[in-house]
Amino acid sequence: MSEPVYGKLAVIGCGLIGASVILAARAAGAVGQVAVADASPAARARITALGFADLVTADAAEAVADADLVIFAVPVMAMGEAARAAAPGLKPGVTISDVGSVKAAVAEALAAALPQTCFIVPGHPIAGTEQSGPDAGFAELFQHRWVILTPQSNPDPAYQQAVERLTDFWTALGAQVELMDDKHHDLVLAVTSHLPHLIAYTIVGAAADLEGVTRGEVMKYSAGGFRDFTRIAASDPTMWRDVFLSNKDAVLEVLGRFTEDLQAMSRAIRWGEGDKLFDQFSRTREIRRGIIAAGQESATPNFGRDQRGAETPDTKPK
Ligand code: NAP
Repeated sequence: MSEPVYGKLAVIGCGLIGASVILAARAAGAVGQVAVADASPAARARITALGFADLVTADAAEAVADADLVIFAVPVMAMGEAARAAAPGLKPGVTISDVGSVKAAVAEALAAALPQTCFIVPGHPIAGTEQSGPDAGFAELFQHRWVILTPQSNPDPAYQQAVERLTDFWTALGAQVELMDDKHHDLVLAVTSHLPHLIAYTIVGAAADLEGVTRGEVMKYSAGGFRDFTRIAASDPTMWRDVFLSNKDAVLEVLGRFTEDLQAMSRAIRWGEGDKLFDQFSRTREIRRGIIAAGQESATPNFGRDQRGAETPDTKPK
């Protein structure tokens, strides 16, 4: 096996994503030592029992001591607090990254909390499931998935080297890395991931509240489409509350556009404009066929089954 990409990795917040990063890095031989800090006593007990970290602690500063790479894998709105707790233990020249689903707000929170002697390279693996906690982690989560890094505009060669090394790390874990501006990331993900989750949360709630239809009937007759929405709507409430509050502008922008389009569909149904409905459904069918033709998805309807991606089911690299 080749040399590890980093001597010591510290993961702050070790739930589904943090545990998967560690398991994948261990499997790939991409790290030497691993230290974990997690605020949850129950999670710490499970991580200790699972035995995939050399050190498990509640103290982020203790976990990051001597680390070459620190990854924050806590909910988006906890990033600032976690970074402040870790800051006193960081060595100069350490690479700092995260896995948060929103990038501009997290980049700001990390920069405000951390010393200028570290290299901050925010990141987001476009991979996940609706599960939470360390037991849900698995080594293959990032295989053939995109990881988006949103580096700062910093021409320092040492910073550029830090970005390259982090790219090597994720590549070793089986992912394909793309560099992107953080605000652009937030707009793209608002369309491909955040809005679909909002729709799922809303439609499942609305179906459960519908007068004249019992919950039993909703469960019993939930055909493929509705069942897939319920899977997405089972995603972690803390994580998704934080995503919507931290990516407010982009989500409201795409939601406004979506609401207008939905109104147009509603009008077409009310006035019996079959041609409009047919044209729209034909256009979206072509988009779906284009995704399959581009090798981004198999032709079988597997939304959420073998894709495992709670975040963006249709974003698998070729
Ligand atoms: P998770 O399974 O809920 O794990 C998060 C862990 O971090 C929990 O054990 C939590 O403890 C702990 N924690 C919270 N605040 C902390 C703090 N200040 N210091 C130390 N530990 C803290 O969450 P996850 O699903 O892995 O998500 C983690 C991050 O990955 C989020 O930013 C999310 O946006 C991003 N992400 C998620 C997915 C997905 O599909 N789940 C995909 C891509 C990216 P408590 O339970 O006590 O709060």
